[in-house]
Amino acid sequence: MTRRLLRGRTLTFLRWPETADDLASCRYEEDGGLLFEDGRIADAGSYDAVRGRAGANIEVVDHRPHLLLPGLIDCHVHMPQMQVIGSFGAELLDWLNTYTFPAETQFRDAQHARRIARLFLEEMLRQGTTTVVAYCSVHRQSVEAFFAEANALDMLTIAGKVMMDRNAPDGLLDTAQSGYDDSKALIAQWHGVGRQHYAITPRFAITSSPEQMGAAGALAAEFPDLHIQTHLSENHAEIAYTQELYPWSRDYTDIYAHYGLTGPRSLFGHCIHLSERETDALVQSGSVAVFCPTSNLFLGSGLFPYQPHRRRPKPLRIALATDIGGGTSYSMLRTLDEAYKVIALQGEKLNPLASFWQATLGNAQALSLEDRIGTLDVGSDADVVVLDTGAVPAMRLRMETVTTLAQELFLLQTLGDDRCVVETYVAGKPLKHGIIGQAETSSA
Ligand SMILES: [Zn+2]
Repeated sequence: MTRRLLRGRTLTFLRWPETADDLASCRYEEDGGLLFEDGRIADAGSYDAVRGRAGANIEVVDHRPHLLLPGLIDCHVHMPQMQVIGSFGAELLDWLNTYTFPAETQFRDAQHARRIARLFLEEMLRQGTTTVVAYCSVHRQSVEAFFAEANALDMLTIAGKVMMDRNAPDGLLDTAQSGYDDSKALIAQWHGVGRQHYAITPRFAITSSPEQMGAAGALAAEFPDLHIQTHLSENHAEIAYTQELYPWSRDYTDIYAHYGLTGPRSLFGHCIHLSERETDALVQSGSVAVFCPTSNLFLGSGLFPYQPHRRRPKPLRIALATDIGGGTSYSMLRTLDEAYKVIALQGEKLNPLASFWQATLGNAQALSLEDRIGTLDVGSDADVVVLDTGAVPAMRLRMETVTTLAQELFLLQTLGDDRCVVETYVAGKPLKHGIIGQAETSSA
């Protein structure tokens, strides 16, 4: 059996980088080697050492002078919103009613769901993203389509059927009971199949009745290993309406806590306008706040307080995401650029090592999946992105003046996009150009 050995500049993180000079936070090999075997990283280190240990039957893929990083991780996306991205002129609640809900209604059609799921995952791979945490639509068939396509690509994904039983059009509503039953059937059908993980997915408190929130809590109690994903504190009108719907609650976070939906596997999209009490409650429960900078800017929702959250005595766990289709780019590089600006608007900085930590190991830790993804450690799944910082003339020109790794990373996030993605390996297979491209590569 031929094994694949990648050669290039390898970079993987060990911990949070305190500064742009904190090179002890990462492991960087100028001439590195990564050996893939059975979808895992079987060996890593200097190219010469890995080559020496690897023995016979090796196919060397020389990616020099490009950077090899762990595949990028996107912790909050909406698969059914590919045809919603770039819709003009609304804030959150109007944007949902005017654009998003009509688009999601089409996902009752299994053919449509299958087509978009495939295009969605292929677009992510084109951008160097190897893991997504996805909302499907309310329709069971949208989740079946998503997992079928993700499993065919052997991508590690987390996804779930949106539970929503009020405040949306008829074609987009389940009931407390059917939402519970369909979720449970999908868990049985897909959770643990290949690299697929199911997430309990109440859209948000506005579109779930108290009965449905109870049903989501019941699922969480029955399946404590599953992730939970929902939205929290994105927009002022949303927060006010939520308080009207749950008048007994102390605040928005209290609603999720009341139904047993906070905890170390809970991913809360946005968390922009949290009170001190809410932030404390999230920290105490180990919950994760998901920062979606392009979406927060596009919908005018607000500025996520990244550094204040990190500076707390016990930091709030943070993930980073595109939030397609409220977000405006599929690229995690573009997302890092906008994250930097959101933080800069609050008078702070995010150093470039920390940016790339966040998009790899940081996001993997937020998902409690750092033993599988987010690093180039031996034993990890072989999900790797190959990045070319000189992909376009303006970047090549700027590279002439770059002298440090941190400067190069900052250039990648500031000017980079899918044009910098040379290849995306998923479980050891090159899939930037999809399965068709993979077939062509292997027969070549
Ligand atoms: Zn969202």
